[in-house]
Parts: sequence; structure tokens; C-alpha cells
Amino acid sequence: MPKSVWYQELSWPEIVEHAKKCDIIILPVGSIEQHGPQCPVGEDSLNVQKMAERVAKRTGVLIAPPIWYGAHMYMQYGFPGTIPIRSDVLKQFVKDVVTGLVKNGFKKVIIFNGHGQQWVLVGALHELALETKAFIAVITWWELVRKLIEEVCETPLVHADEVETSVALELYPELVDMSKAGKESAPTIVDKKWFGHPTRTVPEEGGIPHHNITASYFQVDVYKLGIIGDATKATKEKGKKIVDAVVDKLCEFIEELKRKYPPGVSPLENPPKV
Ligand SMILES: [Zn+2]
Repeated sequence: MPKSVWYQELSWPEIVEHAKKCDIIILPVGSIEQHGPQCPVGEDSLNVQKMAERVAKRTGVLIAPPIWYGAHMYMQYGFPGTIPIRSDVLKQFVKDVVTGLVKNGFKKVIIFNGHGQQWVLVGALHELALETKAFIAVITWWELVRKLIEEVCETPLVHADEVETSVALELYPELVDMSKAGKESAPTIVDKKWFGHPTRTVPEEGGIPHHNITASYFQVDVYKLGIIGDATKATKEKGKKIVDAVVDKLCEFIEELKRKYPPGVSPLENPPKV
């Protein structure tokens, strides 16, 4: 095991040596966004960084220097605390970082996402696959444990709510102030039945994925606290169940990659004989 799981804390010879033994690396990408009065604005970034640390310690993979800022959907703009990066800027930035990691010997890159910006990261993935031939996965933590979230929590994951606040209570309780937690909802432009929420992108009866419609008013106009849901139901116990499940799933994924493709082997460049 290297002296640190973080790429930026190692020397270049240590990085070169590590990539020869394990060429899988996790790149955490989050956001700087208001998460209600009870949680820090770095929540999305902190979540993936801290979960990645648990995964790295179990699997021996390294973690790339994290990207703290993220791209934002239109309705999140203007709320105090939030600092959005333009989506084309984030896409190019992620592409440069991943290209640099691949050039340093990491042929398998897991972009570990903590914010609703999949449309940007998936766009980067398809261009990177053509340009680098590396193995790349965009893994958004809640997408790994959709069903479990519905079992553990009473309300669905949207934003700064029961789910996100529970996860924060498990990962960095010292930064969470539950005395400020609240419950909020707001009217939408079309009926809720037409569009999904982040963990269930399409409503069960069919409809429009959450990212594909301007169904929400600007949050700063219709929310006082910035909690889209009910943060008062959050507990550390719920957060632990969710975090443990995400970490288990990601470890399982990494172990499969290790088993199937030894270090230095890029699956796209080594297709099976047919
Ligand atoms: Zn969040």
C-alpha cells in the first residue's frame, strides 16, 4: 500500500510504480452548492471524496485530486452559496484531467460523481473513449443504490433532504447542524407526474427524465431554506446503511475490473478474439 491513497500526496516515482501494479483510479467530482442551512456547501464533493477514501483503503486504488466545483441545472443558479461552473468548461476540464491520468498509466478511470451533472460527465466519457481508448465509467453514487435508498428512507432523494443529510451525518457529522434542518416543497411548472426525480429519472408510469425539462421554478424564488424535501427525517443510521452499500458496490466493481484486466491492459485495445 502507498503512504497515501491520494495521488497529490505521492511523488512521481511512487505514482509510476503504483500504476504498474494497479492502473485503476477514482476521480471524485462534486459541486459547490447550497445544501440548506444544516449542511456545508461542499456536500456533493465531500460525499464522493470520503466514500472514495473508504473504497481506496479496501481495494488499493488511488484517488486523483478531486474536482470541487460542478456544473448546474438552470434552476440551481442564483441561490446564495452556490458557485456554478459552465457545463462546457467542466466537460473540457474533466477531459484534460482524465487524459492526464491516462498518460500517467491509469488506463481505467472511475469518474465518481456526487452531483446531478451526469449529462456533462457522460458527454466527456464518449469523447474520452474515442481519444484515449481508456476504460472510463461515470458512477453517480446514488445510482448504485437506488432501491436501497427507497427502502431505508421515507422520502426520495432530491436535494439537501433526508437522504443527503443522512449521508452527511455518517461522513462528516461535525459539519452538520440538525437544529437548522427543515422541510420544504414548492409548486412546479407542470404536474409532478410528468417528470422524475434524481433517483428515479423517469416516473414509474413513464414520463420525462428530470434533466430533460424545465419543470422547476428557480429554487431561489420558491424555496426559503434550499431543502428540496424533508431533512428533519435524516439520521446517521440511515446514512451509514446508504454509505456502506455504495462503498460495497464500488469495491465489487473495482475487484471485477482487476480480475478481468491486469494493469496496463486497456479493454478497448484488447478485444476478445471472435
Ligand atoms: Zn447534493
